[in-house]
Amino acid sequence: MSSLVKHKEHKSGLRTADAEEQGRDDRICHCGTKFTPRTRKQRWCSSKCYQASYFITNRDKIQYYRAANSEKFANYCADYYTANADKIAAYNKKNKKRKAKRQAAYRAAHAEEIAKQQAAYRATHRDESAKYRAAYRAAHADENAKYQAAYYAANRDAILKYKAARYAAKRLAASKQTPPIREG
Ligand SMILES: [Zn+2]
Repeated sequence: MSSLVKHKEHKSGLRTADAEEQGRDDRICHCGTKFTPRTRKQRWCSSKCYQASYFITNRDKIQYYRAANSEKFANYCADYYTANADKIAAYNKKNKKRKAKRQAAYRAAHAEEIAKQQAAYRATHRDESAKYRAAYRAAHADENAKYQAAYYAANRDAILKYKAARYAAKRLAASKQTPPIREG
């Protein structure tokens, strides 16, 4: 056994004896945990509960302090950011990569499940989504027609060129194929 553990045991033994001597019984913390207080004032089972209750009872004080020193805090944060910009950027980048990796791994491991979920969602919302799309189209019909006309007008040459190229490519492909046998 290390001396550290021994020391700790020794100390807690003393505390328990102390508590008994002073008639300090177990208490119930606000979180519901039963604990043996180490001092007469101790009303929380852990530092976490102490901090939580400290914040609640001193909320006004803390908020007042923060408000009064908000400029100082802001400056401090800005200074810290400036001084550590590279470090912070590197950290964010690394984290982003890590997150993306984690998400990709999750998607890969659960691909089937996810696909099923999505299919099920689409199946149950098919009507809804068709209705929504139809309503959207109906509501924006004018707008859409105008937009398309404007787009066509603005890109007329490019569109015609594209269509001509496609037509030529199709004809070329068709000429290379054996013509289908026509019955009749
Ligand atoms: Zn507690």
